[in-house]
Amino acid sequence: MTPCVRPEALVSFGVTDISAGARLLDGALLAQKLREETRRLAERLSAQGRAPHLRVILLGNDPASENYVASKTKAARQAGCTAETVRLAAGSPPALLLAEVERGNRDEGVDGLLVQLPLEAGHDPRNVFDAIDPWKDVDGIHPENVGRLHQGRPRFVPCTPAAILALLDAGGVPVEGRRAVVLGRSDIVGKPVAALLTARDATVTLCHSKTQRLAEICAEAEILIAAIGRPGFVGPEHVRPGAAVVDVGINRISNAEKVPPRLLASERIRRAIEERGSALVGDVDFEAVFPVAGWISPVPGGVGPLTVAMLLKNTVEAARLHRERRADEEMDPLTL
Ligand code: NDP
Repeated sequence: MTPCVRPEALVSFGVTDISAGARLLDGALLAQKLREETRRLAERLSAQGRAPHLRVILLGNDPASENYVASKTKAARQAGCTAETVRLAAGSPPALLLAEVERGNRDEGVDGLLVQLPLEAGHDPRNVFDAIDPWKDVDGIHPENVGRLHQGRPRFVPCTPAAILALLDAGGVPVEGRRAVVLGRSDIVGKPVAALLTARDATVTLCHSKTQRLAEICAEAEILIAAIGRPGFVGPEHVRPGAAVVDVGINRISNAEKVPPRLLASERIRRAIEERGSALVGDVDFEAVFPVAGWISPVPGGVGPLTVAMLLKNTVEAARLHRERRADEEMDPLTL
């Protein structure tokens, strides 16, 4: 597979000597290719009836969630799907959210349904995971879909973990038989990516906040996935020379005083905070890790855009399955 590298992206990260460091795992470029493929499939489904439809339920008005939802629905439309956002006021009770999920489950016009996470305090996300129709669960979080993933027969692969594997594959990173370390054990990123890597025959260690000798374990990894939500946490001391480092973290840092001091050594970050008041950074200290790693994904422009592209892929797949199941029902004499 051709390595997915876009030299100008490295330059925008302050890297001038491209030969002196890691190869870039460029999610933006790959996302574009995936969107084009998805669009072709969506157009085929549209020609047979209607376009795949995505419904996003957004609870409250957290600005980061608002942005993510807007970019998901916009990308869905660009990929030939239709999309809508159902908004629930901040402070809405769990029963209202679950009723809205149920409404989406029953709506024949909805192929893919997702609830934007994280939820407000007072809501248990696992109740939402349980409530979503597993055939519309384009985030792959319903226990049935999680179970299928762990048994190696996925229906909808969760979007961020799918994006991570796609980045590794596009970069030509060998997975089979390699030592992989996943930092973070959330239901939506850490655990499912560990399952996917295991299914691809990597030897996987899953780390979390109670892990002892963390830097030492990370430094053994040939593939290191960072998904902890700690700006610039992963430094060169965590990285084995030549390793593939995938940075999942999305952290907006806005107050220079709260930034880990070594991040401020990056001119890119310092300038963004000075000029725009904030900077978007990952869980990896990109500039410090770049010379050590064999491959690295940037933030922004790595896992993020590809995650959205995977959501659209799942939406089109949900629409295809929806149509197939309806056709089966129509053929079944017991339902006539
Ligand atoms: P969660 O907050 O749900 O989980 C964080 C995990 O990191 C937990 O397992 C926690 O351990 C672990 N952790 C936290 N601090 C440390 C530490 N110092 N050392 C070791 N482990 C630690 O996060 P998510 O998985 O939802 O998200 C992680 C990051 O990825 C966030 O920055 C988020 O914004 C980003 N993200 C990006 C996406 C994308 O599309 N690029 C999509 C989803 C998330 P414990 O379990 O012990 O508490």
